[in-house]
Amino acid sequence: MSSIQSAARRAGETAIINMGLLYLGPHLSYQADWLNTSLATIRWIHRGAAVSFAIMTAFHVAVLRPSQSPFTWPLTAQCYGVIAALALAATLVLCIRPLRRPSFELFLRTHQFLAVGSLYAIGMHVRNSRDAVARFGAIGIAVCFVASGTGQVLQVLVRHCFFYHGLPRARIVQVCHVVRISVDTSVPITVRAGQYVNVYMPGVSFWSWLQSHPFTVAAVQRRGPGTTLELMVEPRRGWTSKLVSRARNVGLGDEPLSGQQLYIAFFSGPHGRTIDVDNYSVVVMVASGWGVIAQIPYLQHLISGYNNSTTKVRRIHLIWQLSAVDDGVPAEDLLNQALLEDTLDNGYILRISVHYCHGRLSPEERHPGQRVTFFEGVADWHNLINDELRQPLVLPEHQHKEVSNDLAPKPHVSAFVTERRRVVVMVSAAELIRRQVRDACKPHLSPQLRLVELDYQPN
Ligand SMILES: Cc1cc2nc3c(=O)[nH]c(=O)nc-3n(C[C@H](O)[C@H](O)[C@H](O)COP(=O)(O)OP(=O)(O)OC[C@H]3O[C@@H](n4cnc5c(N)ncnc54)[C@H](O)[C@@H]3O)c2cc1C
Repeated sequence: MSSIQSAARRAGETAIINMGLLYLGPHLSYQADWLNTSLATIRWIHRGAAVSFAIMTAFHVAVLRPSQSPFTWPLTAQCYGVIAALALAATLVLCIRPLRRPSFELFLRTHQFLAVGSLYAIGMHVRNSRDAVARFGAIGIAVCFVASGTGQVLQVLVRHCFFYHGLPRARIVQVCHVVRISVDTSVPITVRAGQYVNVYMPGVSFWSWLQSHPFTVAAVQRRGPGTTLELMVEPRRGWTSKLVSRARNVGLGDEPLSGQQLYIAFFSGPHGRTIDVDNYSVVVMVASGWGVIAQIPYLQHLISGYNNSTTKVRRIHLIWQLSAVDDGVPAEDLLNQALLEDTLDNGYILRISVHYCHGRLSPEERHPGQRVTFFEGVADWHNLINDELRQPLVLPEHQHKEVSNDLAPKPHVSAFVTERRRVVVMVSAAELIRRQVRDACKPHLSPQLRLVELDYQPN
């Protein structure tokens, strides 16, 4: 065997070992939880592993070309190798953004189907191979994949105890243009700020038995022995648009619960890391559109922590970019709740700046209170972030004074540096805004300033 051929065989072996990273389980949320990392990082790992797997496979196939027609019956090991390579190529082509855009669900299921198909074909390709690494590697990956998939399903079933308590239900109700899903659990569930659940509601539409969707837990309420998780869903084009039409239908006929509808609902999770915000004195929240929903649980956590003296936070600024001023209305209740709780000793730590592109507000409406300000136009993220870093660390009893001095010239020396405070900038915003905020923070990044992109990023 020539050296290039033996290199190609090695590439095949390495590709199989590398493949293990792609088949840690059917759901990336679980993989992110196991590795205690963000969804974005696990997606990068998945993509990186897929690209190196593809390069090694391409080299393996190009050098060790099939010596016979790839599609002979019965299928030979070589045929299975070709099928696996084709399935892999199709999987990669489908990942191109314009191709997955028309239907994300169709893309996801085809991706999973091709991935399972290619794993099976690789298993058959190396079944009788003398190469133990390839043979046992493929078997090991298949066993791991099936075990983790089964484990995930069992975890969901056990969590809901549905053999004992019956099928879990969720109520859906429309609030302005969004839908609120209240999922009742029969057992208590602990959810930390910023976590999300993957919801499976088979009754919403014809294809929804095949779908599960991630949503941030916006609020948690204790209810008898169990818990109610509140999810706020902004309608998109697929499953969520069906959800809206279901919620809208309610109340028109004689429904058992006025304005509400009950659906069978399972969920997995809570998934996702929670950012340890308690040790930061300044928290800057950057949100666009419905991304604000990922910031609200942190807002509630920080304000109650401040009231109970369990966090070091002294200043929170939520900067929210909206397309139209009305887009923010569904989150109004949750934000008002946070503002109401933030009144310890007649001071406050929370400020909200809303930037909007469409809609009209009178000068009075732009300042509904001292803590909330509306600005017309697109936010200048560079200036906003720099201003935030320069502002002195203000104690709540002095906050009113600080606001009235807003137009005074800013100090030249960065208070951020002199006070040695710790600042965290948390982002849940569209891609362009994320890029601008990254650029604005880059010169200041240090142990004192942390930039975090949350799991939910609206697009
Ligand atoms: C961690 C996380 C938390 C989220 N929290 C919220 C929330 O609190 N409120 C909210 O309104 N939205 C949230 N989303 C977005 C929400 O999951 C999607 O808007 C929803 O799944 C769209 O479903 P659809 O079929 O209507 O989408 P489509 O119109 O078919 O697709 C629109 C876009 O939604 C995304 N998407 C669609 N299906 C899925 C899926 N199964 N998994 C992941 N992304 C998908 C894709 O990016 C797609 O391009 C969150 C997303 C993530 C990743």
